[in-house]
Amino acid sequence: MSRPQRITVLGATGSIGLSTLDVIARHPERYETFALTGYSRLDELLALCLKHAPVFAVVPEEGSAATLRAGLDAAGSRTEVLVGERGLCAVAADPQVDAVMAAIVGAAGLRPTLAAVEAGKKVLLANKEALVMSGALFMDAVRRHNAVLLPIDSEHNAIFQCLPVDYARGMGQVGVRRILLTASGGPFRQTLASELAQVTPEQACAHPNWSMGRKISVDSASMMNKGLELIEACWLFDAPPSRVEVVVHPQSVIHSLVDYVDGSVLAQLGNPDMRTPIANALAWPERIDSGVAPLDLFDIARLDFEAPDEARFPCLRLAREAAEAGNSAPAVLNAANEIAVEAFLQRRIRFPEIASMIEQVLEREPVVAVDSLDAVFAADQRARELAGEWLTRHGR
Ligand code: NAD
Ligand code: MG
Repeated sequence: MSRPQRITVLGATGSIGLSTLDVIARHPERYETFALTGYSRLDELLALCLKHAPVFAVVPEEGSAATLRAGLDAAGSRTEVLVGERGLCAVAADPQVDAVMAAIVGAAGLRPTLAAVEAGKKVLLANKEALVMSGALFMDAVRRHNAVLLPIDSEHNAIFQCLPVDYARGMGQVGVRRILLTASGGPFRQTLASELAQVTPEQACAHPNWSMGRKISVDSASMMNKGLELIEACWLFDAPPSRVEVVVHPQSVIHSLVDYVDGSVLAQLGNPDMRTPIANALAWPERIDSGVAPLDLFDIARLDFEAPDEARFPCLRLAREAAEAGNSAPAVLNAANEIAVEAFLQRRIRFPEIASMIEQVLEREPVVAVDSLDAVFAADQRARELAGEWLTRHGR
């Protein structure tokens, strides 16, 4: 390799962003950071800029830019500060960039991630909400601009590793019967339905196997994360929802499986540490050290599997229905979920009301065709308004 690849990390201060920088720092001869972006934790972003010396840093508005610039100047750093969504899109699409880690959480990541796709970058996709919202448009842009889309979500990275290289020919063509998407079951896997109304945001964010941002932690607790991942898998691998089955596997050692028509089932295993899929995607098709400890099967001793309980976790059913309805339904599901998760974290609604709120928004918002990004954001906006109304009526 002639020169190190230049990487933009969108959402550098988050859980995925930090894991990405950990892997990058292990291979200075291969990678260098081109841009780092953050939203609220400016001290953390400043420290990351001083450590990784990116060309650009991006923050949400002028006030935080002034604060960050002052800190950078005081330390003699030459990192330049850009602002807002324009700044995010600029560092995602910059001609000097080789790969973009899309690790902003939620709908806020859609435009910058698409900017990377439209610039034909290698895009490492953690921001599943972006793909869920705009699936057909997003995948169409990947094809038109020859972007290389590599999944970071551990399940999708596992499926990617278990599929043949020519999987884009279609699941049936390459002999795939089903994709088996594993789920840990989250912190409330064994909680009684009658007790779910009492669970707290702290309990929801205490995931048994993974350490993650607060939004995805709540999604894991409600199993909406698996619902979003079902939709994500359908788009990434061009599979109908009927070919994707969710399997609860509490140890999170098997990260997903592919079931072939000849009876072969391929799985990818590893310790639950996001640096494995990050390193896999960064170096693909090569392999590099990620810093993750080798898997000790004797220590794990057993692997368990159970069927998901959609009565206690209705978000999974709602997501499957949205996947089947297609069009604007996944964007509406995602937007209503973002409002519901935030309301739960603020203790304005109880845990089971996350699903109630989303279901009522989906019932009230008709499914429409989305043939442009504006149409996607319009559906997103209407869903947020309906969710807001629901919150006014039912929230605390
Ligand atoms: P996080 O909350 O730890 O980090 C989110 C990042 O996005 C931060 O850098 C934050 O500054 C930035 N951000 C938040 N709101 C923003 C906004 N409005 N504009 C610009 N930037 C904003 O989240 P995370 O756990 O790192 O997850 C990031 C994404 O990766 C999510 O889409 C999540 O579903 C996905 N993901 C995470 C994991 C995991 O293990 N953490 C696993 C699979 C997929
Ligand atoms: Mg996942």
